[in-house]
Amino acid sequence: MKVLVTGGAGYIGSHTAKALAKAGHEPLVLDNFSSGHRWAVKWGKLLEWDLAATQMLPQFLENERVGAVLHFAASLLVGESVRNPRKYYWNNIVNTLNLLDALQTADVQRIVFSSSAAVYGDPKQVPIPESHSKEPVNPYGETKLAMERALQWYGNAYGIKWVALRYFNAAGADPDGDLGECHDPETHLIPLVVQAALGKRPPVEIYGTDYPTPDGTAIRDYIHVTDLADAHVRALDYLVQGGESRALNLGTGQGNSVREVINVAAKISSRGVPFREGPRRAGDPPVLVADASLAGRTLGWKPERSDVETIIRSAWNWHAKIHKS
Ligand code: UDP
Repeated sequence: MKVLVTGGAGYIGSHTAKALAKAGHEPLVLDNFSSGHRWAVKWGKLLEWDLAATQMLPQFLENERVGAVLHFAASLLVGESVRNPRKYYWNNIVNTLNLLDALQTADVQRIVFSSSAAVYGDPKQVPIPESHSKEPVNPYGETKLAMERALQWYGNAYGIKWVALRYFNAAGADPDGDLGECHDPETHLIPLVVQAALGKRPPVEIYGTDYPTPDGTAIRDYIHVTDLADAHVRALDYLVQGGESRALNLGTGQGNSVREVINVAAKISSRGVPFREGPRRAGDPPVLVADASLAGRTLGWKPERSDVETIIRSAWNWHAKIHKS
């Protein structure tokens, strides 16, 4: 099937374009390169378009007989969303509504939507099931939740079928070394830790050592990007087979603390990771861990590479390779 992959030059989108091609689908990557990379578009045709201007999109979807959309294109930094909510409302809501209009015009009835654990807000229960209350504490989570709700209402009214995948902490790199995580600015823990070990960055700052966790640092559910990519291909197949629209958590059900991540990276790099201890980052809950059992049952999905050692090793290999070349 031909599948439009918006944001297909980005981190999770590019890994998923590869997984789609491997599964025998044809990805068509749409990206405006606001944060994606040309080198990451290696599978399928590239459309350098922006979802703020979608006049050409319905005709394209019809001509190409596109069967589904995987919608990754979005802004995704929590802190930035608090400082600049306008960017998030326009990019994540208005541009997604533009995409939905184009799908409706072209009669494309399936969409897999990139959502986030940020829809839950501060967890009242851990591991977090999909039924947990949704009270986002920042504009990023708010805009993801708004679009999940829009999908629900559009589905009821217009028949579009959707799966919203709520990612926990995506991390790691393609096991073949074709792709990896490369944000500018980089704010995510695992690439920062790996780059610090490589001597390419100043010491990592641990955001908070007084959390009510065994070692005092915050715990997150890290999920390998290749496992996320696999879940998207399965969600697509699920919709093709007539599966009901729904939201699913993507995580492992296991958490790792910031100190554990640093220790594992130190072992893998055999160099030690320079770090210093700092205050908490605003808005960070102590523990975020998914109950991902519903995704397992619904999609037959099981994370294969998401133990933290495998994740960090793949990230290490990727960063070591790009810093060498
Ligand atoms: N973190 C940290 N130092 C950093 C970046 C992140 O201690 O330089 C912590 C952060 O507070 C959180 C965890 O690492 O507990 C994962 O953060 P990240 O930004 O990677 O992902 P998020 O959970 O914000 O999506």
